[in-house]
Amino acid sequence: MVLDLLLPSRCVVCRRGGAQLCADCLRGLPRLRGPRCERCGAPTAWPVRRCIECNGRRLAFARARAAVVYDEAVRSAVGAWKERALRRLVGSFADVVADVLERPEHPLAFVPSDPERHRDRAGHPAGALARELGRRWELPVVPLLARRAGKRQRGLPLDQRRANVRGAFTSGPAPRRIVLVDDVYTTGATANEAASALRRAGARHVEVVTFARAVRRYTVRSQA
Ligand SMILES: [Zn+2]
Ligand SMILES: [Zn+2]
Repeated sequence: MVLDLLLPSRCVVCRRGGAQLCADCLRGLPRLRGPRCERCGAPTAWPVRRCIECNGRRLAFARARAAVVYDEAVRSAVGAWKERALRRLVGSFADVVADVLERPEHPLAFVPSDPERHRDRAGHPAGALARELGRRWELPVVPLLARRAGKRQRGLPLDQRRANVRGAFTSGPAPRRIVLVDDVYTTGATANEAASALRRAGARHVEVVTFARAVRRYTVRSQA
């Protein structure tokens, strides 16, 4: 990208000159390795099949997994990746995902970004992540989903997020089992809606993989 060429490279988290994400900050990303909810992937005190966050919710995906907590550092890194089209970051993110999560068994689809936002900059960030993961896991990437232009999810409260994203996706004919890749799992509303579209298109089992996950009342334990 043009910006990459013109600006001296700096770490997007600590601002030190050098790599776009320096080794220290990369190592310090809060990985989600502890017990979690089998269904939505929320970190829990011990393994559970459902948790406070997902119990009673109808979810179109069978399970969701994420590699790191969506904390301030991760927010900066993801923000820089998406807003400034820092493509080299995505390789680091994929390394972390492949390190923390088990390799899935099914082809990868991804959540396309809003067509008005990423038309000529970062492309589809989740698509770039899916392609990097596809290389590491040796899984095919299928661009099944399309997204209608709409309001951004960021900054909206939970109930409005669900309403805002409803009907946002359409899918081409989907395989029975598929993995849905996105950058961040916030409330699960986007993943759920995209998974619904895949199921309407023939999928029976959808697993969600994201780089980061918003976590409520997370007690940080260093697990680098
Ligand atoms: Zn740094
Ligand atoms: Zn849960």
